[in-house]
Amino acid sequence: MRHLAPDYIYTRQGLQSNMLITISDEGRIASITPVGAQFIIPFRLPNNLEPQARTQSVWESGSRALLPGFVNVHSHVFQRALRGHTHRPLSQQDTFWTWRRAMYAEAQRLNPDLLYESASQTYREMLAAGYTTVGEFHYLHHQPGGTPYANPNAMSEAVLQAGHDAGIRVVLLMTAYASVEAYLDRVETLRATGVPIGVAPHSVRAVPEPWFRAIADYSRTHNIPFHVHADEQIAEIEQCQAAYNCTPIELLARFGALGTRTTIVHATHANATEIALLARNGCTVTPNSFPPTSPSPSAPIATPASIPSKNCAGPNTPLACAINAAAYWSPTRWPHLARSYSPTAHNMVLNLWG
Ligand SMILES: [Zn+2]
Repeated sequence: MRHLAPDYIYTRQGLQSNMLITISDEGRIASITPVGAQFIIPFRLPNNLEPQARTQSVWESGSRALLPGFVNVHSHVFQRALRGHTHRPLSQQDTFWTWRRAMYAEAQRLNPDLLYESASQTYREMLAAGYTTVGEFHYLHHQPGGTPYANPNAMSEAVLQAGHDAGIRVVLLMTAYASVEAYLDRVETLRATGVPIGVAPHSVRAVPEPWFRAIADYSRTHNIPFHVHADEQIAEIEQCQAAYNCTPIELLARFGALGTRTTIVHATHANATEIALLARNGCTVTPNSFPPTSPSPSAPIATPASIPSKNCAGPNTPLACAINAAAYWSPTRWPHLARSYSPTAHNMVLNLWG
């Protein structure tokens, strides 16, 4: 048993002082209790204390606030390579579409070894910034040129290995491709190895209705996360209206894809009807990459000015934290931001897959 006694800790009850964290010999938090008379905290442990003696001691964390490890809900890890090359602040030419061209060029270049390298660097950076779990929205599956690998999960395994070696927990959010049966087979194969996994039909523009229904069923049956991009671009909404006479989130509802395991990525241009739908179905929204300085311009509109009016329409709609691999915010800024975004601010910090 070891003990920590920081000045403050962040729990479901908020920021608390005078609390003692007890850590089991397996390295897990055994309890968080008020510091009582039974504990005498040696706030200055002598420097010459033997390591053996220290393990039984109460450790002072020294003028610190201790926060839980943060979850980055939505990452495209390989996009780190685009950092500084797209969405340059002074450029008149950089747009979502130039960014997308650069992103595809980078995706075309990668094989499992290069992806492992890129992911290793990025995951180490995430850890250094305080993130301990990442939802990796993974859509790189084939060889440069589009031929499948002999092992269809070669790229997924490279990402998982990078996470394992860096020491971050990766929840692999596998995008659907090829056929839905082959896709669910691959998901099943990876699940059988015990890795945390979620399903991720990319968007309503990329995946047909029968796939959505099959994948949503699979998510419900196995109680695993379901991630989908929606309402990222105006053009996407217009195309959806033209094809289906409804918006992307309304279409997802029609497909039976909204539920408590569903996370909508972006929802940048979601209207009040769509937000109400999300709230009614208990979905989570992750306004990906909304820092205005983010090099990914895919969702620059979800700023503090626009989020509250939308998301407060559904007070039970949790916001989640998503940081594109291209830019990180220190997690310590999230509680402050959350307060300006939603009346259920603590959801943003704590309701990240538990
Ligand atoms: Zn994304």
